[in-house]
Amino acid sequence: MTIPNSTASTAENASSRLPAEEKRIVSELATNSNEPDSYFAVSKRWYASWRKYVNTPLGGGAAAPRPGPIDNSDIIETDPYLGRKSLAKEKAYVLVTQLAHIRDYYDMRKGELLDPLSNKSLEESGLVTNQDILLEVDERGLAGLVNLGNTCYMNSAVQCLAHTPPMHEYFLRDHTHQGELAKAFGKLLTELWSSGTNAVAPRVFKTKVDKAAPQFIGHYQHDSHELLLALLTGLHQDSDIVNVFQGQCKSSLVCPVCGETANTYDSFTSLSLPLPSTPTWSISLLSCLDEYLGEEPLGPDNMWLCPECKDKRQANKKLDLWKLPEILVFQLKRFKTSKYFLKKIDAFVDFPVDELDLSKYVENGESCLYELYAVSNHDGGIGLGHYTAYAKMIDDDNEWYWYDDSLVSPVDESEIVSSAAYLLFYRRVGSEIETKSAEVSKTDDMDLSS
Ligand SMILES: [Zn+2]
Repeated sequence: MTIPNSTASTAENASSRLPAEEKRIVSELATNSNEPDSYFAVSKRWYASWRKYVNTPLGGGAAAPRPGPIDNSDIIETDPYLGRKSLAKEKAYVLVTQLAHIRDYYDMRKGELLDPLSNKSLEESGLVTNQDILLEVDERGLAGLVNLGNTCYMNSAVQCLAHTPPMHEYFLRDHTHQGELAKAFGKLLTELWSSGTNAVAPRVFKTKVDKAAPQFIGHYQHDSHELLLALLTGLHQDSDIVNVFQGQCKSSLVCPVCGETANTYDSFTSLSLPLPSTPTWSISLLSCLDEYLGEEPLGPDNMWLCPECKDKRQANKKLDLWKLPEILVFQLKRFKTSKYFLKKIDAFVDFPVDELDLSKYVENGESCLYELYAVSNHDGGIGLGHYTAYAKMIDDDNEWYWYDDSLVSPVDESEIVSSAAYLLFYRRVGSEIETKSAEVSKTDDMDLSS
């Protein structure tokens, strides 16, 4: 690891570094730092622009501009009566460790650290705008996961699970698991929820995943959905908490000739929605769901022996949602096997963030309002792609964060819905949720699939 020391480093030679190189160095610092006893507040706006810059793809697309030196002017406010400067409470900031190293890239002077127990105002401590501020805050749940070599698919799924409230509540409370996978998962979640902003290396967990599901052995790129299902299956052997993901579908066969119907009930852990493979600008989540649940004729090679007609008939098959789970996961089927190769469908699926209302799909009148709290994203093509996750800090600051392996940064809610979205994690909410009916009906009516 080559890190320029602060005296040798200038903003000029930092600019000559490639964005990806800068990201790698800061990622390594996030991983290798010891338990920090101090954090630095950096403007969320500035940090987001830096993240955009370092994620500029190599040789393609419009490059995001490199932000100037760390600018905290938007998170500092001055008391109009006392003239004191302080951290604006309602302004968005992100806490980072190792700011000194980020600062190296911008040739900033090293500032004095504040004593957290000091009663001095920021100004009395010699702090002015554009300088870093030390503060102690609770920042659990903001740790990244080290990439062990093509393990972004695993990191992405684990971050989504780690931010699933019933999962982390359960695994942080109960440490009596017998199974190795559940033990390792519980330990990993405990580390993620107690390690500050330091990245956690999920090495032991990976070996237990490999043991439970040998297809993941080695360092090859895999599917975050496949990992999610394998992990939930493995955890289920040890704990019933996984049942929060379990819903039921009713599958009906209808004989058009006599109207005879046969129902079977199957449980599901996620719903895998087909996407249009023809070039499409955008489609709504509910129209994908309608397509998935739609009635379709069984092929002539799949005739049904109708108990009424007592003969083989061509039947129609129809799926219905029967029982919806507390945690509802949708897989947007972006990876499609054609005759000779696998291709990726980049269609933009418009899905609701605040309120997904599935009432019209379920007959039994249960609460069917859901809110999005995590997304597993896949960027790029098959094999070369990269998985990341968005997750909301529920019951904390209720802000969204972007988990890109070891790096974690705040992200605006408006960026959550993108054509990279692959797995959508919704949780059931009570009917007391504030309804934004105007916005929701607008989303529902938007069907540009044709
Ligand atoms: Zn019949």
